[in-house]
Amino acid sequence: MALNSWVEAQRHLAGGVNSPVRAFKAVGGEPVFIQSGKGPYIFDNQNRRYVDFCLSWGAILLGHAYPSVTRVIAHQAKKGTSFGAPTEAETALAREIKKAFPGMEKIRFTSSGTEAVMSAVRLARGVTKRDRIVKFEGCYHGHVDSLLVKAGSGLATLGLAESAGVPEELARLTTVLPYNDARGAQKFFQKNKDIACVIVEPIAANMGVVPAKQEFLEELRKLTKINDSLLVFDEVITGYRVGYGGAQHLYKIDPDITILGKIIGGGLPVGAFGAKAGIMDHLAPLGNVYQAGTLSGNPLSMAAGLAVLSGLSKKFYAPLNARTKNFLSEARLIFKKKNKKVAIREAGSMFTTFFEDKRTENFRRFFHQMLSAGVYFPPSAFEASFLSAAHTERELDGVLKKIFTKIS
Ligand SMILES: *Cc1c(COP(=O)(O)O)cnc(C)c1O
Repeated sequence: MALNSWVEAQRHLAGGVNSPVRAFKAVGGEPVFIQSGKGPYIFDNQNRRYVDFCLSWGAILLGHAYPSVTRVIAHQAKKGTSFGAPTEAETALAREIKKAFPGMEKIRFTSSGTEAVMSAVRLARGVTKRDRIVKFEGCYHGHVDSLLVKAGSGLATLGLAESAGVPEELARLTTVLPYNDARGAQKFFQKNKDIACVIVEPIAANMGVVPAKQEFLEELRKLTKINDSLLVFDEVITGYRVGYGGAQHLYKIDPDITILGKIIGGGLPVGAFGAKAGIMDHLAPLGNVYQAGTLSGNPLSMAAGLAVLSGLSKKFYAPLNARTKNFLSEARLIFKKKNKKVAIREAGSMFTTFFEDKRTENFRRFFHQMLSAGVYFPPSAFEASFLSAAHTERELDGVLKKIFTKIS
């Protein structure tokens, strides 16, 4: 080995990374440096191959370097990468998204999920002329100041309740309520009338996979409607992941504002939020809620996103979700045989593996045993794992064998 990549990275990048969980703090040891990916695999700088269950934190749905996706990226790159002027690709992707999310009558693209959440919250405050926002414990909505309060995995990994640098005055405008507690939400709404919006992950994926209860989401829908507050579904992770149309389709609940990200950029930076025209028209240039972005609706992201989404339909998800289900039932049996108390929770093609005793310690051991065996899990016990359409039975059987032979 020539240069130690991790030592070098730490000399030049804050903490050696550009997003904290990548630093392996929760699992110990040094992060592996990825060089390339193909289908279900990623390859590190020593050319070691791993079955990838991180998949860029769920952003990759079809597998790495999917041919039609890389083709359109290369094609667009030759024609220019950013213009700061309208392109037809933005309209095309918006039109495609509306097929799956009809409630997003008008859409605006951003460069990340965080940015979309930040803008959606500003829009909700602008529309309602109210300041208070309600979120739920354990839900992550990106690193937006107002929402970095009790926000799940990244912070849990680092043992932080919330981030320094968020003004007390701002945090005070955010109320955090317990997830899946309809009664708690009801009580809060009885006493507070100044709520601009309620933001929720309809299937929480950042504190382990925790689907919301139907009656919880229904109660939020009812409360927000009666009180003229907006209901915001953060589907950055669940959108195009749990099924066509996201969690809102599964639960048959129409939020006022939907936020997307991850999958819709085909592996390139993206975010989006959308709602009925009457809400979205409050945004500049039509309305007085300012929102902008130099690289928003970037041609490469739009092209990659369209290449992924245009191949999807309700039918796409059945085999992927079934493969996930089978894989996880087999894994449960293996853990049981090996006397490991593990709770696996799933939604569509995402899941978490929770060790019931000594969670962090046992996950750490499992993570490293799997890593050495050529299986890459997200490096934190709280993060969700994902399958792509490229994870076939062959790779999955291989992983099951490794879980059986390698874990101790
Ligand atoms: C990933 C994620 C975000 C943030 O998106 P970024 O692109 O990382 O800024 C927001 N909300 C949820 C539910 C997410 O999973």
